[in-house]
Amino acid sequence: MKIFDLHCDTVGECYKNSQHLRKNNMHLSLEGAAEYDEYCQVFAIWITDDLRGERAVDYFNNVADLYHKSVGENNDLISYYNTDSKTPVKGILACEGGSACGGTLRGLDNMYKKGVRLVTLTWNSNNEIGGGAFAEGGLTPFGAEFVKRCEDIGVIIDVSHLNRQSFWDVAKITTKPFVASHSNANIVDNFYGQKRNLDDDQIKVIRDRGGLIGLNFCADFLQQENYPGLLSLGEQIRYLLSLGCEDVIAFGSDFDGCDMIDELKGVHKMKGVYENLLKQGFDESVLNKIFYNNAKRFFDKNLK
Ligand SMILES: [Zn+2]
Repeated sequence: MKIFDLHCDTVGECYKNSQHLRKNNMHLSLEGAAEYDEYCQVFAIWITDDLRGERAVDYFNNVADLYHKSVGENNDLISYYNTDSKTPVKGILACEGGSACGGTLRGLDNMYKKGVRLVTLTWNSNNEIGGGAFAEGGLTPFGAEFVKRCEDIGVIIDVSHLNRQSFWDVAKITTKPFVASHSNANIVDNFYGQKRNLDDDQIKVIRDRGGLIGLNFCADFLQQENYPGLLSLGEQIRYLLSLGCEDVIAFGSDFDGCDMIDELKGVHKMKGVYENLLKQGFDESVLNKIFYNNAKRFFDKNLK
């Protein structure tokens, strides 16, 4: 079984809690992921909204160094995506919060040099680039430069966590496909989920650009009356399929980044998730696209 996941916070949690990527008691470990035939994981470095300027850059650098050290020490299990190594786990580095650039394009070049190939522009508040889900205002003039430079150097834009205005600013100035690495369709029953998830028009523009939507396992982002447990994930998939997103849907689990229902809590649950979705009536070919093929095709095409 092959899995491609667009978002987890595991490396940052390892850094903060002195845990190891190889073996730990968190949602994701290399040993857990290596149980599958192939596990491609986008590892995000989350920059909290209280870190800006040099402090954000320093934090980013420290966690990026830990990621590369962990890959080097565990090269029997993990290698960088786009290399010929035959390890079961493949890693792509991402940054959740463009403030890791410290508000300069030179800082973006540093992120690229450190291996970042996907950037979530904001977290929930404002930063130098634009307004997040719980903030006012769209992309700043610097944010527009940042986004254009990302497209030039080959960093994929991630619109998860943006507010609506920033999202549409990004849609307007970009020419390449972009992703929502860990956001769901806005069919949920709570305020937090509604702020963070995508409305139909947003979903359609991501689809038409050839982007990806990574379904988030966060309990609040799945919660819908009458759809308990994994039925809520099935309903998200059904809804996105009704909007013509068969080639767009992927997973962005948010492992080690949020609270989940038991059925989704950790990499070892993914086989059960697949079997449950089969029982819910989804075709194997559709599930294989969601679990792996859509993201694989996207990154092989769009990653330099
Ligand atoms: Zn997030």
